[in-house]
Amino acid sequence: MHKEDQPLIFELSTEGRIGYSLPEMDIPEIDLSELLPKGYLREEEPELPEVSELDIMRHYTALSKRNHGVDSGFYPLGSCTMKYNPKINENVARFNGFAHVHPLQDESSVQGALELMYDLQEHLIEITGMDEVTLQPAAGAHGEWTGLMMIRAYHEANGDTKRTKVVVPDSAHGTNPASATVAGFETVTVKSDENGLVDLEDLRRVVGEDTAALMLTNPNTLGLFEENILEMAEIVHSAGGKLYYDGANLNAVLSKARPGDMGFDVVHLNLHKTFTGPHGGGGPGSGPVGVKADLIPYLPKPVLVKNGDQYEFDYDRPHSIGRVKPYYGNFGINVRAYTYIRTMGPDGLKAVTENAVLNANYMMRRLEPFFDLPFDRHCKHEFVLSGKRQKKLGVRTLDIAKRLLDFGYHPPTIYFPLNVEECIMIEPTETESKETLDAFVDAMIQIAKEAEENPEIVQEAPHTTVIGRLDETMAARKPVLRYQKQ
Ligand SMILES: *Cc1c(COP(=O)(O)O)cnc(C)c1O
Repeated sequence: MHKEDQPLIFELSTEGRIGYSLPEMDIPEIDLSELLPKGYLREEEPELPEVSELDIMRHYTALSKRNHGVDSGFYPLGSCTMKYNPKINENVARFNGFAHVHPLQDESSVQGALELMYDLQEHLIEITGMDEVTLQPAAGAHGEWTGLMMIRAYHEANGDTKRTKVVVPDSAHGTNPASATVAGFETVTVKSDENGLVDLEDLRRVVGEDTAALMLTNPNTLGLFEENILEMAEIVHSAGGKLYYDGANLNAVLSKARPGDMGFDVVHLNLHKTFTGPHGGGGPGSGPVGVKADLIPYLPKPVLVKNGDQYEFDYDRPHSIGRVKPYYGNFGINVRAYTYIRTMGPDGLKAVTENAVLNANYMMRRLEPFFDLPFDRHCKHEFVLSGKRQKKLGVRTLDIAKRLLDFGYHPPTIYFPLNVEECIMIEPTETESKETLDAFVDAMIQIAKEAEENPEIVQEAPHTTVIGRLDETMAARKPVLRYQKQ
């Protein structure tokens, strides 16, 4: 591998070279200074590169190759389920009748699109074991907030206004406490025990008359199944609280276990993770929320209903928390998820879970001799290692992640969950072959050996990328998004 030294398009510019051809102007020219206030008008010509069509083609193709996506390589980013997105999803989402409908069209003219969404809701009800589902929320965190707002409305309708607290385990995804805060609740942390599971004693201590809900991911973000879930549900329910299921990572339990059967009252799903919506570039997501019967009145409106053989939006929902998104969710992502569910079928979805879990356990056991394994139990769809042993040699988990770039891999999630020191969280997903898993494990083993024998090579990584180590805080807070002349 070598650094790409293709010159940037701005440096290729040659005066007078053009990459476009436009027809002759045959309309009167407008004097913009009459239309726009002076402050908005440019005084000088913009400095744009003058290049040929081929130059610009090469520019964008080169940029696209600098990006890492699941279509270009392994992407074991824990908790993010970067699995392969089947291309049939894209074909179906581009059908004229789906891609070219307008959300303000009359319901009678989009019955097929409404039927697809209704059917998708029915499938998600079956998959989660809930009683009703809304497709409105646009992402996982948005689903969390929607669910918590419904729980708040439920308690308020019962005159139960002292329930101001949401209990969240210390291993939880960061969006959980954030959503609870945005929904106006106070977050209370419940500790994990030495097995990486919620500590039942601590749960009993923190749950009480002021508990609105417990938010839980199961399996949790350590990849471990909360085997005491029925007892936990009993503790929370008998105190009058509700159980919220963060179902972003349903890959681990699809067709095997259902949050509805575990005692959960509300669940959100990430269709852009488990159900193969493309994600990773901040594109549209879909975070449907399912509820048990006693929360149905609070669902965001409108609710998509079937009336005889007609599909329609029901706005007559006096207890609804209101609309949470314009129109009715990110339709294109919902089409992809529907296509995925229908192409997989129930047996296919079961195989997803079995292979996701098998792949994770296989990698965990192959890596165990070389890295610390904080929780030595069977994992579900992902597992966490600790880089403590390497840290003693002066190689931090961040260095290991950067070194993996040299092997052409997207690094795993690191330093999360927060309750594991030097955490490395690996989620292989079910769509990867044994050969890919082995090649990644071999790279990790080589890095572990380098940490002992030649730590500089890890500490100074990456060596093969266009840009080396960034100041990540600055890159996030003050990104330089425009070409800057040297
Ligand atoms: C990804 C994820 C979320 C957040 O989902 P977004 O769609 O990114 O908002 C929440 N919880 C868990 C466990 C996740 O993995």
